[in-house]
Amino acid sequence: MPKCRREQKTSRKFEKGGGILHWIDFTSPHSVREAVELLSDANGSARVLAGGTDLLVQLRGGRFDDVNLVVDGKNIPELNEITYDPEGGLTLGAAVPCYRIYGNAAISRAYPGLIDSASLIGGTQIQGRASFGGNLCNSTPSGDSIPAMIAHSAVANIAGPDGHRHVAVEDFCTGPGSNVLGNGEMLVSISFPAPTSGFGANYMRFIPRNEMDIAVAGAGTSIVLDGDTIKSARVALAAVAPTPLYVSAIGDAIAGKPANDDTLAEAGQMAKDAATPITDMRGTIEYRKHLCDVLTRRSLQIAIDRAKENA
Ligand SMILES: Cc1cc2nc3c(=O)[nH]c(=O)nc-3n(C[C@H](O)[C@H](O)[C@H](O)COP(=O)(O)OP(=O)(O)OC[C@H]3O[C@@H](n4cnc5c(N)ncnc54)[C@H](O)[C@@H]3O)c2cc1C
Repeated sequence: MPKCRREQKTSRKFEKGGGILHWIDFTSPHSVREAVELLSDANGSARVLAGGTDLLVQLRGGRFDDVNLVVDGKNIPELNEITYDPEGGLTLGAAVPCYRIYGNAAISRAYPGLIDSASLIGGTQIQGRASFGGNLCNSTPSGDSIPAMIAHSAVANIAGPDGHRHVAVEDFCTGPGSNVLGNGEMLVSISFPAPTSGFGANYMRFIPRNEMDIAVAGAGTSIVLDGDTIKSARVALAAVAPTPLYVSAIGDAIAGKPANDDTLAEAGQMAKDAATPITDMRGTIEYRKHLCDVLTRRSLQIAIDRAKENA
């Protein structure tokens, strides 16, 4: 395979139709190694392209005026593969679009929280392009795949000039739109452990419309049941903190307790207390905190119902 070369090394701006157009090179490498080299050489002025449903909008809107190279991930095999083995778990390539996730029967059964997220991001057209990898790397607090991935104990597999490293998804985002990726690094895939028997999960969000909106708040939950007792649980929240928020204290508090309304009420209250939202056009602090309580209880109840089916 010929090495993918970057033809243009300089950023150019030129005027057309009264506006300033910003020249951006496009390159489509065939391996992670090539992509990392291109990203490293660009020294912060390149972005990886997955589905483009965030990136193209942002480039057009002028958010990345310093970007002069787009590195396409669609020809890199590791970014586009889904591998699943009931013993070893699931690995999703960083550029795999949502429709391939919910279109996979084995994943639908084993990872129900991921399916909830994949089926509500945007609409059918967006789901044809949008990836969980792009959602994670975009790193908005409202990213709908991120709480579900945290609930499913996901790990981000990163490649960079110094080799590979692995970061728990709850530690990946560092602020609104920022994350742990350093210069020359890219997300290759996301891995999920094989679910055990008695496992159930869910993601739900609140939006004022039925679809095509940004979460006012969201809750991703998972549970492992031993009979009617909660063996372990994970809860993560969307849009109520500077990053997607993993509330590990909820799992610690409800493990060993009965899977009943009192326990869910305790979890909901803890989610409400942990949230540190802002007031904006979509909701007030009080409204969002209230939603954390309601969504956490409802989401955990669905996770429990699914866990019982899976016992
Ligand atoms: C109409 C519309 C509706 C939407 N609805 C929702 C919604 O309901 N919920 C929601 O959460 N989002 C929504 N979005 C936002 C967007 O669709 C999602 O965030 C989507 O998951 C992004 O994935 P992508 O593959 O398109 O990423 P891209 O746009 O290709 O990339 C997003 C960002 O991640 C970076 N990136 C991508 N891949 C990598 C990689 N492998 N390594 C390093 N960096 C990488 C890119 O450089 C870019 O900065 C919507 C967008 C639109 C346009």
